[in-house]
Amino acid sequence: SKREGFATIPDVSWDDIGALATVREELQTAIVDPIQNPERYAAVGISAPTGVLLWGPPGCGKTLLAKAVAAESKANFISIKGPELLNKYVGESEAAVRRVFMRARSSVPCVIFFDELDALVPRRDDSISEASGRVVNMLLTELDGLSARAGIYVIGATNRPDIIDDAMMRPGRLETRLFVDLPGPQERVEILKALIRNKPIPADIAEIARLDVCHGYSGADLESLIRKAGQHALKRQMDRVEKQDFEFAVQAIKGSVGSMDKYYK
Ligand code: ATP
Repeated sequence: SKREGFATIPDVSWDDIGALATVREELQTAIVDPIQNPERYAAVGISAPTGVLLWGPPGCGKTLLAKAVAAESKANFISIKGPELLNKYVGESEAAVRRVFMRARSSVPCVIFFDELDALVPRRDDSISEASGRVVNMLLTELDGLSARAGIYVIGATNRPDIIDDAMMRPGRLETRLFVDLPGPQERVEILKALIRNKPIPADIAEIARLDVCHGYSGADLESLIRKAGQHALKRQMDRVEKQDFEFAVQAIKGSVGSMDKYYK
């Protein structure tokens, strides 16, 4: 079920996601509710939004959020990394974009997740090649062809919203932009709690993520922390992870998100 580009319902729920409460609520309203109750939108005479853009530093839960949206909506999930659609042969990239939407139409309701969207829809300025321009146009055309009633929703993700073509963010396209922030001390604890939820690891260990040594940790770094602690426990010939294993692990792992400056414009 992990193969990229194929439609399946992911097994991620809101409970698997720590912190990010505001973003979760906004996604619930923007996508999950409309998929579940399209008639409520029709009744008040408006169309539900068809897309959102998640942006923020790497490893902070954008992919996880997109999967949870699909799972909570009981919708199929098609995951595409922007660069993998790019092909040097003339017309191939546009054809690949078109095939993604065709596949989505045959598996509605469906959430299409475009990770690294900036690679697919760079800002159309003087430096952009004719070929990339055609890919941008094709994606815009497909987005404009969607209506919420058709049951296809698009979630884009990027670390660099500043280099995405503005036309992507117009009304009716990915008009809602949600910032997925690097976690602070309390949020790191919540994320670690979510990550060890179904594991034989004492829940109070999550408090360690509050420490200053964890400054700059992303959710992905917290996942590495668990692995590192587990490896340390095995090395000590233990059959359970203990606090001291996590104490070792926080010293060994450095936050991967250094300066946040580039994420605030
Ligand atoms: P990228 O920009 O690199 O694609 P991303 O923002 O999409 O990153 P994810 O792939 O969602 O990040 O997160 C990577 C891993 O980190 C997840 O599989 C999960 O284990 C963990 N993780 C990140 N954020 C959270 C969170 N808020 N709650 C629980 N786990 C998280």
